[in-house]
Amino acid sequence: MYDYTDISAFHGVWVFCEQRDGVLNTTSFELLSEGRKLADDLHTELCGLLIGDKVEDLSAQLGGYGADKVYVIESPLLKTYTTDAYTKVICDAVKEKKPEIVLIGATNIGRDLGPRCAARLHTGLTADATHLDIDTAKYLDFLRETSTIDVDSMKWDMEDKGLKMTRPAFGGHLMATIICPRFRPQMSTVRPGVMKCAEFDDIKAKAVKVEKLNLGLTEDDIKTKVLKVVKETKEIVDLLGAEVIVSVGQGISKDPEKGIALAKELCDALGGGVVGASRAVVDAGILSSDHQVGQTGKTVRPRIYVALGISGAIQHKAGMQDSEYIIAVNKQEGAPIFEVADYSIVGDLYTVVPMMIDAIKSVK
Ligand SMILES: Cc1cc2nc3c(=O)[nH]c(=O)nc-3n(C[C@H](O)[C@H](O)[C@H](O)COP(=O)(O)OP(=O)(O)OC[C@H]3O[C@@H](n4cnc5c(N)ncnc54)[C@H](O)[C@@H]3O)c2cc1C
Repeated sequence: MYDYTDISAFHGVWVFCEQRDGVLNTTSFELLSEGRKLADDLHTELCGLLIGDKVEDLSAQLGGYGADKVYVIESPLLKTYTTDAYTKVICDAVKEKKPEIVLIGATNIGRDLGPRCAARLHTGLTADATHLDIDTAKYLDFLRETSTIDVDSMKWDMEDKGLKMTRPAFGGHLMATIICPRFRPQMSTVRPGVMKCAEFDDIKAKAVKVEKLNLGLTEDDIKTKVLKVVKETKEIVDLLGAEVIVSVGQGISKDPEKGIALAKELCDALGGGVVGASRAVVDAGILSSDHQVGQTGKTVRPRIYVALGISGAIQHKAGMQDSEYIIAVNKQEGAPIFEVADYSIVGDLYTVVPMMIDAIKSVK
């Protein structure tokens, strides 16, 4: 019988690996890379969970990013995502195999699927986690680095092997660590773009074990019918895959059109990139929400991040401070964005950006 309180019966770390039309989502690779570390700390197996119709061939990719094993659940009824079908097969698979941890990307699908599965399985779920730890010593190092807690004057259970799931709370002003001590599996949706992707390992890709699960899904299990998938024709900005991002803030409000044109020109001068935005710019309707960087937008870590006329509120910094090189242009000397910038330029962006473009072009 399945007993969600029988903690010792649950083993292994699972990652739900989202695919659409046979293409795996990059968040799956980020989660596998992070899941690998958690599985190593627990001395257990890392398993990918691959669901769809004729998707087995994708298994090797999951191995390459760290999975020891891939559970494949295939059915024509799983070709297109439906909450009912995916929830049913995931819950059945969890009941059969009893994983200790289940990670799901906080994508549109993941945000729909995760809570539904957690409720069915009678366990807890941390939504939108940005940091995960098993090992208490590593968790304390994380707290020393990122918090004001006096870690060393407190007592900690160094043997604890529970999953510590950290996420921003109270509008990003606090970080909260959530644990799930009484029930299994421990579940979390994880923010796309936050976890670092490991290098692809060809040997592991070839060595990955595949097990097909036949869970007897029928049409009666699915209450909705997908009649047609209509894809948005609008060009979506790929902030997550960009090497260069030039973001604009409220500082362009004097002449938004010119500000955006300058940002695009700077992207081109830097060899191609995409235009990001602060929430203020999105809220003002100047750019659409797929441009937004930050706590309620995308978390990015490009090679070059340029912030033009962005003050550097905590919620914006949360989404870009891990970028490799940060260049900030702001007319106010003490702007908080300069705290995370590698290059700080104090000045009016309408004057500074054309100078930057000229300088880059002349170097080239
Ligand atoms: C729950 C919550 C979630 C949030 N999520 C996000 C999020 O995901 N992303 C996000 O960005 N924000 C988010 N915010 C909003 C955030 O707190 C700030 O309000 C927002 O980031 C401010 O945007 P800004 O820097 O563009 O504007 P402002 O704070 O108005 O700053 C404009 C800056 O431009 C400078 N400036 C003005 N003119 C010029 C010029 N000509 N040349 C150079 N510099 C100039 C000014 O000195 C100023 O520093 C969130 C807030 C909350 C409460």
